[in-house]
Amino acid sequence: MGLISVESGKYSLSDMGWQFVLMKPPESIAIQRHEVQKQEKHLRELALGRFNAFDPTVEKTHSLREIFVRDRAFRKIVTSQHDHCCAVCELRLATPKGVYEAEAAHIVPKRKMGSDDPRNGISLCGTHHSTFDEGLISVNPSKHTIVVASYLERYSNEEPVSKFLKLKGKRIEQVVDQQLSPSDEALGWHTENVFLG
Ligand SMILES: [Zn+2]
Repeated sequence: MGLISVESGKYSLSDMGWQFVLMKPPESIAIQRHEVQKQEKHLRELALGRFNAFDPTVEKTHSLREIFVRDRAFRKIVTSQHDHCCAVCELRLATPKGVYEAEAAHIVPKRKMGSDDPRNGISLCGTHHSTFDEGLISVNPSKHTIVVASYLERYSNEEPVSKFLKLKGKRIEQVVDQQLSPSDEALGWHTENVFLG
């Protein structure tokens, strides 16, 4: 399957390799703050130009360090745009050390060569990140309202599911800087290609 092939200290990431790496960060990588700040600056500059939902360079060989730094910078920009809240349910949790629970979801996922342009991101809590990635929810690209997979209606008599269904039609939270708002193009791709309908 070739999840990760190591060539002179570089890692080639396949479709599943991304997940593998992101879920199991090696403890030996200690990322410096200045590295993240540099990458953050780069991603913010990217967001000033024409939006590209896809980044064909994603499949090229990167060092594991580069991947972690970029991922950290992407998360920092996207979650801070939503004031560290989930854009769907508005949950905002932080540990006493100031670590926020909110995650940065890629709208066009990395496994589909989705870009790290902050406009390809949306801040979500763990539950809504997972359900967004699996297509149980999506966001209407023109109205920015939540859509929920219709098959769940069958379980509407179950209270937790009925609460979930009530998200339908709710408008997602606005971002701090409109320039970095989730892209309609990316949201349209998600509703067409990931959302279960
Ligand atoms: Zn949420």
